[in-house]
Amino acid sequence: MTIVVFLGAPGSGKGTQAKKLSEELSIKHFSTGDMLRHHLKKGTPLGVKANAFIERGTLVPDEVMIELIENSLGQLSSGAKVILDGFPRTVPQSEALDAKPSTAPSSVIYFKMPESVLIERLTGRRTCQNCGESFHLEFIPPKKTGICDKCNGPLVQRKDDMEDVIKKRLEIFYSQNSLLLNFYKNSRRLVEIDAHQPVESLNTEIKRYFG
Ligand code: AMP
Repeated sequence: MTIVVFLGAPGSGKGTQAKKLSEELSIKHFSTGDMLRHHLKKGTPLGVKANAFIERGTLVPDEVMIELIENSLGQLSSGAKVILDGFPRTVPQSEALDAKPSTAPSSVIYFKMPESVLIERLTGRRTCQNCGESFHLEFIPPKKTGICDKCNGPLVQRKDDMEDVIKKRLEIFYSQNSLLLNFYKNSRRLVEIDAHQPVESLNTEIKRYFG
């Protein structure tokens, strides 16, 4: 299995790029945020448990997340290529991946983005309630106001994209991020990219790492 991790703050564009690359290059895309929201929509015990953390902008406990990702990766063939988006978010999560040679990431791409841009992107983000596609009121407006271009579903503001929850999410991100960056820098797997650029040029830059 080949695993590439996308690290970056909420709003840094890693989810958009992961979706695009997985379609273009036929790579699996595992977004732990999307997985949890899917569980919540279905009303599973995991979804209900995770929701209390998600709504407050805090992290779901490591043991829950590690089990979720291990189960998901365990269903793939040994030759699979995977982008992990939103996992790991803590050092114990990164250690859990490295604990098995088959799930140790081969490279880690860090999406660098100024904090002022993150806040602007997150507060204006609107997400399709059906398919999860993201738009932005100003930067990526849908063709019809409030309607998803892809599936005609309703666009809503995620509860955790409200300003006070965003602040909490960013605070937690910055508290964990330097530890994670050091973890991957020390093992020479870290690539840092300037994520403050248009979707297409960022896509071209990242594709180089999927040779
Ligand atoms: P995201 O869509 O990636 O921003 O994730 C939304 C929320 O899901 C986060 O704010 C956390 O509450 C939770 N979450 C997603 N991935 C993880 C993770 N790897 N560890 C802990 N919590 C997570």
